[in-house]
Amino acid sequence: MTTAASAAQLVGDSAIVAVEAASVGPDAWARSAAAPGLAAVGRVVDGGPGAAHLLGQRVLAGRFAPCGECDVCRRGGAVVCPTGEALGATRGALGDGHGRLAAPARWLIPLEGPLAVAGAAAAVLGWEAALAYALYARAGVGPREPVVVIGDDAVASLLRQILAAKHASVLDGGAAGPDDDEDAAAVRARLVAAAAAAGHGARPWKVLETTGEAALRARALAIAGPRAVVALAAPPGAAPVTDAAATSAALAREVTIVGVAGAHPDLLTEVAALAVRGELDPVGAAELVPREDLAAAWARRATTRPATALVATFAR
Ligand SMILES: [Zn+2]
Repeated sequence: MTTAASAAQLVGDSAIVAVEAASVGPDAWARSAAAPGLAAVGRVVDGGPGAAHLLGQRVLAGRFAPCGECDVCRRGGAVVCPTGEALGATRGALGDGHGRLAAPARWLIPLEGPLAVAGAAAAVLGWEAALAYALYARAGVGPREPVVVIGDDAVASLLRQILAAKHASVLDGGAAGPDDDEDAAAVRARLVAAAAAAGHGARPWKVLETTGEAALRARALAIAGPRAVVALAAPPGAAPVTDAAATSAALAREVTIVGVAGAHPDLLTEVAALAVRGELDPVGAAELVPREDLAAAWARRATTRPATALVATFAR
């Protein structure tokens, strides 16, 4: 059974996913979205001819559906494809009124066989874990390279797991949250000491910021020394602000600033594989809430800074 709205899209490689769970994203801006939901896990229940091979399979639908053909896509920029779609704007991963989501089969990742990741928390693999992986990949972090993570959300915790799996050398600055208004110079001094203790000397760091918040972006830029690489989460729909003075000062130190809007759909396979290997824990990063209780959960979380991603679940 399909709804009238989804049936109209049953052409080509469109698949209809009966959503089992959807990650609904950072609370403040996600709750104001016209169509909430950034990534989903569910079962393919219908589709066009190009989706026939996925019928009946449990799949992960990430946030981005690029065209895959344009010059931006061909150069690895699928996330910022000019004609691509990002869930959470005009359409959300919660799907239609029946929890059914139309998505291009091309970008759906089967979570079966060697990529079987059970449970509703698997939805975070399509957004929070994928964004974390993209921050790691776009910054070009290598094994044993010194890295600083700035952020206190689910993306940050998942990123720390990814960095551990990739054998990066994560420096503990002890000041990743916004409640700590300690001077950035003091934080940097502590990180410099940690880097020296780890044998990195003055080697430039990779600094990864996960929240997109102005205060944490400023901190990431302020602690980045000469020739550092700073990767800043810049997801569509958020309202991030960048401190002009901190940016100018960082640029004067020849800091490379990389904006990361999200992960290429092709990376979702590697993200799921990390979860299968036990190197990434989606369960610990997610708070599950029944779909019908989503509004109440948003209201409850509005006054706190949850370290988990909110995942809405459907009774199937
Ligand atoms: Zn494209």
